[in-house]
Amino acid sequence: MDGRTPARRSTARPLPGAGPPPARAPEWALYVDLDAYYVACELRDRPDLRGRTVIVGPPPSDGPGRGVVLSASYEARAFGVKSAQPVRTAARLCPDAVWIPPDFPKYERVANEVRAVLRRHSPRVVPYSIDEAVVVAEVESDEEARARAEAIQAELRTALGLSASIGVARARVVAKIASDRAKPGGIRVVTDGEIASFLAPLSVRAIPGVGPRTEEILTRHGVRTIGELASHEPQEFLRDLGGFARDLIELARGTPRESGEGSSGPRSRSADRTFDRDESDGARLAGAVRDLATELAAALDREQLRYGTVGVAFRWSDFDRTERRHNLVGAREGPAPLVEAAVRLAHGLWAAECAGRGRGVRTVSVRAERLAERLQRQASLDEYRPTGTGPQR
Ligand SMILES: [Mg+2]
Repeated sequence: MDGRTPARRSTARPLPGAGPPPARAPEWALYVDLDAYYVACELRDRPDLRGRTVIVGPPPSDGPGRGVVLSASYEARAFGVKSAQPVRTAARLCPDAVWIPPDFPKYERVANEVRAVLRRHSPRVVPYSIDEAVVVAEVESDEEARARAEAIQAELRTALGLSASIGVARARVVAKIASDRAKPGGIRVVTDGEIASFLAPLSVRAIPGVGPRTEEILTRHGVRTIGELASHEPQEFLRDLGGFARDLIELARGTPRESGEGSSGPRSRSADRTFDRDESDGARLAGAVRDLATELAAALDREQLRYGTVGVAFRWSDFDRTERRHNLVGAREGPAPLVEAAVRLAHGLWAAECAGRGRGVRTVSVRAERLAERLQRQASLDEYRPTGTGPQR
């Protein structure tokens, strides 16, 4: 990456008398998801293992720990092995698999190489996780968007030896769902007019944010596929799902509204936890928020990101959702400011919203917003140094 702030044409004011600024090309979201990422990173160094059943995770020979599979090759997935599965189960399903202990510094190094490639194709790259990112491309047509995706896929393969699946659509949520359908190694383009028919046959679970609990609620209303959702009215689910119902139905009808995270707006990252049983103990909630904030800070750290705003949200047992945010002074990094702000927000939220209402919390989430890259800031400080004395990138 070049460390410079991406150009923002929209902020440039036209000169007096120069007429309206030229119209911008439409924005397309290219949702890039690397295939079997941790395994793929390992296979770069161990080409002899290509085509074999490979599992990245704590080897079962290390003892009967509580470890889980981090990533499995597609050959191992054919045996039913999948991410987050207990090591014991995976070992039983696929006894001949080659196990590789995880090497996180390697995966972070490779992720930075991936982002450098993505930035060669657009200055606007929004990382979502270590192996997923959206590339925002301003192009005139779906053919051009597809060509951009093909170029990205080819460069990731030739320069880094990595396979990526790419979903292409105007709305990020649709691009994300399309990337899941493109796995492994494909490209799926969904134009605005195709959204409803593309989504119709898919299970509601294909929608990001729809977990087993929401699925169960929708099933009770006779809704299993996204297409079935389209013929319902948001009011029918309002009591169970709140405002989420409207988002789901608008998506199903092919007119998704993007979440607060607009393509040119502030980037954010969050971590959440849904309790097995609604939680109504303030101290335990604060503990969960502390854990989530620590986990989120570690994820931001791995991606070399700083943050300017911290938010905490509770989804209550009646599906009502409340949120509080706090703007920090300047961009911060590391776990301390995030954890401290999140726990304080959680206490405030709990005290204000719960008192006497007798409802518990179903899901807590901690969010970091106004993200900025650490390298970016260093680069701008370095500009004040005399040429040649700054650190080499
Ligand atoms: Mg992936």
